[in-house]
Amino acid sequence: MNLTFLGTSHGVPQADRYCTSYLLEVEDNLYIIDTGAPVADLLIRKGKDLNNVKAIFNTHFHHDHAAGALHFIDLCSWYFKDTAFTYFTPEEGAINALRGVIEASTTKLDDERIKMTAYSAGVIYDDGIIRVEAIPTKHTSYNPIISSYAFYIEAEDKKLLFTGDLSMRLEGDDFPAVAFDRHMDVIVTECAHFEPAALEAYMPRLDTDILAVCHINDIERKIPELERLNGKYDFELLIAEDDDEIEF
Ligand SMILES: [Zn+2]
Repeated sequence: MNLTFLGTSHGVPQADRYCTSYLLEVEDNLYIIDTGAPVADLLIRKGKDLNNVKAIFNTHFHHDHAAGALHFIDLCSWYFKDTAFTYFTPEEGAINALRGVIEASTTKLDDERIKMTAYSAGVIYDDGIIRVEAIPTKHTSYNPIISSYAFYIEAEDKKLLFTGDLSMRLEGDDFPAVAFDRHMDVIVTECAHFEPAALEAYMPRLDTDILAVCHINDIERKIPELERLNGKYDFELLIAEDDDEIEF
């Protein structure tokens, strides 16, 4: 199993960082968590077979987590006709919008190959290879029309948590509680909506091999603060950069 950080920037791209996107590979099967980066381009550049993409999971429909989905789905619709996957987003309106934009420029989406599904809390995917549970977060609580989720993923004998974006200042005890009640192999979180000190408050309760921090704003100030925490707790703290990989 392999986790590749396709995009590690916060809401705005940087010189050497795309916005949020992660690639999880289990044997030949490809799963994408968020598409803030140009995922089609990056997968092709890395020599990945798009036919192996089984599912794309969107934590929330802010475009730094979602913009690459339009291009990916469009390409798979009109050109890569052996692809077959499901796109998961919490927003029904986003599905209608994606369909409208794609069908305005090309042809009708092939709903047999490319499925788009609006999910809510609970187990949203289980293909016998990975199992994905969506856990609500308070990131978008300022706007009750839209929703945000973390993903807890079990694959082979590994456990992973992608927190997605969390609440401002981590208010409301928003770090997903699943991180405290079982051992994780990897937790991927953010540090754009709160200070490193707010994240550190949760660290003593985490039971994980690796805590990867991405989606960091104000990096000149925050990354050194985060780096000072490495070694303080019983896990590796990875300040992930684009193209970093974790092999399990
Ligand atoms: Zn967001």
